[in-house]
Amino acid sequence: MNKENLDHVVISEQQFDRASSYMDHLQTGLVDFLKQPKRINISNFPVELDDGSVKTFRCYRVIHNRVFGPGKGGIRYHPDVTEEEVVSLAKLMTWKCALVNVPFGGAKGGVICNPKELSTNELRRITRRFTSEFFDVIGPYTDIPAPDLYTNEQTMAWIYDTYDVMNPGKNNQLVVTGKPIDLGGSYGRKEATGQGCLYVTERFLSKRLIPEIDEIAGTRVAIQGFGNVGSVAAKAFCRQGAKIIALSDSEGGIYAEKGLNLDEVIAFKQEHSCVVGMPGTLTITNEELITIDCDVLIPAAISNQIHAGNANNIKAKLIVEAANNPTTPAADIILQKNGVYVIPDIVANAGGVTVSYFEWVQNQANEQWDLEVVNSKLKKKMCQCVDTIFKRWQDFACGEEKITNKESGEQLECPDFRTVALLTAIERVAKATLLRGIWP
Ligand code: NAD
Repeated sequence: MNKENLDHVVISEQQFDRASSYMDHLQTGLVDFLKQPKRINISNFPVELDDGSVKTFRCYRVIHNRVFGPGKGGIRYHPDVTEEEVVSLAKLMTWKCALVNVPFGGAKGGVICNPKELSTNELRRITRRFTSEFFDVIGPYTDIPAPDLYTNEQTMAWIYDTYDVMNPGKNNQLVVTGKPIDLGGSYGRKEATGQGCLYVTERFLSKRLIPEIDEIAGTRVAIQGFGNVGSVAAKAFCRQGAKIIALSDSEGGIYAEKGLNLDEVIAFKQEHSCVVGMPGTLTITNEELITIDCDVLIPAAISNQIHAGNANNIKAKLIVEAANNPTTPAADIILQKNGVYVIPDIVANAGGVTVSYFEWVQNQANEQWDLEVVNSKLKKKMCQCVDTIFKRWQDFACGEEKITNKESGEQLECPDFRTVALLTAIERVAKATLLRGIWP
């Protein structure tokens, strides 16, 4: 039975502590400070629903750290949103921005609601109210939201409009990224997270760490989640010659040994609102998808999908974390023992925030770059990130970097890629904190 603690705070602490055990040169107090969110904003607000009834919604906007610049992070609409989850996701954004070298800090927002049960008009009213509740929190140079689970470019357009009405006479396009192209959005932003997954996977495979697969072409890929990120990743991997053998959404999954025809899956999902039941496919559960026989597994839905209870059964050789926090710390240890490599979320899905940064830069200059320009800049950043993490991992693996714990003196194992990525990001934020004189 799986007795693992899946609490978001506990998981985030465990990941941080694992990374910080390799940072014997940083002061303990500073490390403790970096764990804490800078500010947690909570609000409850009433919204009139279409049937005339009024419902109170709770929302959060958390800023974890602003050492490198304004807070940056998505807003999710989901019934399971909690303060703890938003805090841990804001923290993740701090490390992600530091790792890809974009001048943002970490933030995240969420509204507890079930978007599947809400009409477009209700979602618009919720979004406008969320924005006015936090009009003094978000801002072009303080905290810049973006889309996340069950929010999209339409949500960003509503936020921009509401903020703009409340702050007239300024260039307010910078207040959100992931906007529609016609409202100052960037070409390639909608696709950036899935496209970034492809770039990091290509670069990782080119290192030839997994002898059986050194390129995307010919790989058998399973993807959990067929929303923005999952569907774009599926198409991008397919274009490079991969075979997408399994896909899923919240209703369940589908499997086809010979590979799925993505155009047909998209058309089927549009008609039936889910992928399950697609002709010529076998129906599988989301749990079965995780342990299916494939080369590359891409979790692109929600957190804690790979855990102590199923990690031993994973057959993929590489996991590319398109979703945030899909793997638990206990699963990380099992996967490392079993020789399954994980490209962690702060690397694998960093394409989204990277192109969000490009959008912010374009908005400052009132420019709109061509898609080719955006994608070539994105590819460069993603490849640099993989190279940095890979080089440091190699240094650990061959003993170039010392791996003894300062306090216990114990010999530490070679860290996995998540630990190396986190370690590198935390060190960068710590260094900037010291340079700015924030730490006394
Ligand atoms: P989305 O709302 O467009 O899609 C979410 C998908 O997950 C849908 O297909 C939904 O059916 C599926 N899903 C929901 N609950 C599920 C469950 N219990 N089991 C299996 N599938 C389930 O969201 P998105 O923007 O594609 O985001 C997906 C993940 O990627 C999230 O974890 C998000 O935090 C992360 N992410 C997104 C971006 C971005 O730019 N959109 C950037 C970085 C990270």
